[in-house]
Amino acid sequence: MNSQDPSPSSGPAVRPPVVLAAAAHPDDIEFMMAGTLLRLKDAGAQIHLWHLANGCHGTAVHGHDEIVRIRGEEARASAALEGGVSHAPLFDDLAVFYDAPSLARVAAVVRDIRPTIILTHSPRDYMEDHQNTCRLIVTAAFSRGMVNVVTAPPRPVWDASVALYHALPHGLCDQLGRPVAPDLFVNTAPVLERKRAMLACHRSQRDWLDASQGMGAYLEEMVRMGAEVGRMSGRFACAEGWLRHNFLGFCAEGFNPIQDLLKGDCHAQTA
Ligand SMILES: [Zn+2]
Repeated sequence: MNSQDPSPSSGPAVRPPVVLAAAAHPDDIEFMMAGTLLRLKDAGAQIHLWHLANGCHGTAVHGHDEIVRIRGEEARASAALEGGVSHAPLFDDLAVFYDAPSLARVAAVVRDIRPTIILTHSPRDYMEDHQNTCRLIVTAAFSRGMVNVVTAPPRPVWDASVALYHALPHGLCDQLGRPVAPDLFVNTAPVLERKRAMLACHRSQRDWLDASQGMGAYLEEMVRMGAEVGRMSGRFACAEGWLRHNFLGFCAEGFNPIQDLLKGDCHAQTA
């Protein structure tokens, strides 16, 4: 709250923008989205963090229930650093499927949150959990006002505008190894240390990423990717890149709340 907030006598309070970062696994938000999430928070938005899968396969050491508990605690600690609302996962890793029962569960959470801005994976990301998370989130948002789409549990429809933004795929290349260029860059340099602190909460992944994907210094890998996207932007030392989802069915054509909120720290790249 600040001195600009409307008093009760000046009419109904204006709802601040609500941002939902929805990713597949417990550390995906911190790798590719958290910088933008923090910039939007600093611009007055409420932030929600949701990893749809529980991270159960991100280990070579722990059993299923133990690693799910550990990774849940890590994700909640990361969100708590910044006062974000953390939402519980719904699925096991490698069991995120685009089907009607899954969609009903995902749509219930999205209807509860009622986001103005959704940050999610690229539809052309390197693994199926990421792609299916993206598809589920897109349709959950698309169906927000459809009364005959019954969610599980049932939740009321909502029909405000929502803008969807897709992160760059992990490694900045699509599933066929081709580079993906964003059309929007967000300057994340002012929040880099806070983003790094959030990622560092995922301690269980330090050894796992080294063993499974050769990402030994995962904090440095995040910083390196940010610098690479910064170079792509041609103006920021460190950045996250985004591709806007087609506005049809979601909002008016010009609705671009990230640009509106971040102004000069958001740079649109025209093809
Ligand atoms: Zn992931």
